[in-house]
Amino acid sequence: MSKPTAELAEVFSSVQGEGLLIGQRQVFIRFRGCNLACEYCDTPNAFTDEPGILEQTPGRRDFVPTPNPVTLERLISLIDGWLRGWPGVHHSISITGGEPLLSQATLLTWLPELRKLLPIYLETNGTLHTALKPLIKDIDIIGMDIKIPSTSGCTNLWDDHRKFLEIAAHKELFVKVIVGAETQDWEIIRSSELISSVNRNIPLIFQPVTSIKGKVEVNPVRVLELQEIACRHLAEVRVIPQTHKFMAQL
Ligand code: SF4
Repeated sequence: MSKPTAELAEVFSSVQGEGLLIGQRQVFIRFRGCNLACEYCDTPNAFTDEPGILEQTPGRRDFVPTPNPVTLERLISLIDGWLRGWPGVHHSISITGGEPLLSQATLLTWLPELRKLLPIYLETNGTLHTALKPLIKDIDIIGMDIKIPSTSGCTNLWDDHRKFLEIAAHKELFVKVIVGAETQDWEIIRSSELISSVNRNIPLIFQPVTSIKGKVEVNPVRVLELQEIACRHLAEVRVIPQTHKFMAQL
């Protein structure tokens, strides 16, 4: 039987710029493809047919093109070299995209092996609950989105998000909602109620829409109002923009 491979966009070392692991150094493995088409999508390289790019030295941006698909052996060899040469630097491996759960068949084989190197952090749009279920045992931390219509343009994902939350809540988990100038109170109420129906202690992070240069475009008073609404339902609600953009990190 052939070994599972994956279509990867890029592999690199950087600091996590979003969510609860903000500031931690991670190995990022970015998978190609997504099941959604959000209006603010900021990972266009997850959708091209060009070769993937792998960083050779962690954090030095010495990328080399690498034909897809990429094998697990190639990846393990690269990351293992980084961990030997730069011990203690990396906190975890970020499995990101696109939407990495589209590569479920590959991840079934890859995650147990990658997890021998570092803890596994899954960044996901929080919709592919059927794909998550058999993988959950090999994941340590999950950062999932709830996509609200005003910023994503996506509608009718509420039921998928609920099913995803119920599975993901078995691990360390936080939820991220991207908020913008057009975000409505009802979207925040519905998101917060959804999370609290599973566990009100799951942290919720509002990520105000952040421009490519790191400027937050949402009225600061409005962001505080949205936080106040969510705090009626949840124990922990934070506001964190995309910090990697103003640090010029990847
Ligand atoms: S879920 Fe993420 S990768 Fe997919 S379209 Fe939306 S922003 Fe882009």
